[in-house]
Amino acid sequence: MTSPDKIAKIETFRVPPRWLFVRVETEQGIVGWGEGTLEGHTEAIEGAYKDLAERFIGWDSDQIQNIWQHAYRARFYRGGPVLMSALSGLDIALWDIKGKRLGVPVHQLLGGRVRDRVKVYGWIGGDRPSDVVAGAEARRAQGFTAVKMNGTDGIGWVDSPALLQQVVERVQGVRALGLDVGVDFHGRVHKGMARQLAKVLESVQPLFIEEPLLPTQPEEIADLAKLVSTPIALGERLYSRFDFRPYLERRAIDIAQPDVRGVLESAFGSR
Ligand SMILES: [Mg+2]
Repeated sequence: MTSPDKIAKIETFRVPPRWLFVRVETEQGIVGWGEGTLEGHTEAIEGAYKDLAERFIGWDSDQIQNIWQHAYRARFYRGGPVLMSALSGLDIALWDIKGKRLGVPVHQLLGGRVRDRVKVYGWIGGDRPSDVVAGAEARRAQGFTAVKMNGTDGIGWVDSPALLQQVVERVQGVRALGLDVGVDFHGRVHKGMARQLAKVLESVQPLFIEEPLLPTQPEEIADLAKLVSTPIALGERLYSRFDFRPYLERRAIDIAQPDVRGVLESAFGSR
């Protein structure tokens, strides 16, 4: 058996305006890259990587599971956006290294690719009505057939039905261009208004509504799922399969949106 190729270096690189990449190098000179971006919290992630570097330099770079388990479990605090984004980036880099060592794409190590093509949507913002149509036209010109937009900017705990109607009209404006539309509430809308907004939006048939409430509200989102026919999407602020659990148990969401930096590794394998 060959001797283990140990982790020699773990370094981070900021890429403005908001990305953070991690570069892992082994003693035999194999380099793997991962992403640990957590928008608006770059320094916190850099701090997390300092800790991960102290702990895992010298470990066998092939033991991805072992490293993941130790990083996740061997301290009192676990989970959450900072620790999981950093761990996910390290994990991606280690898979990159393993793929390079074995000379295969990482998907081959995870069961082989499933698709040759995947449908995507483009983000168009959406707080201001004029921006929405211009943004949607630009996306259409790029070849997109679907876009995602903000539901609404600020909205009071109890607010005018006219505001809700404006959201419907903005979505209608984009649908009129022949595009399908996902509407992201960003968890900004209080429950009473979110319920109404979700209800009135049904008439313009969004592809889905995203984070109709905060990701701390699985019960309330489950209630909402019973009220509307529109598929409910959520997951970019859930950081492990454990965080997804209450949503799945309550059948609260139709579309899980795991963010690769936070949750993907923990969704794989037998953890
Ligand atoms: Mg979102």
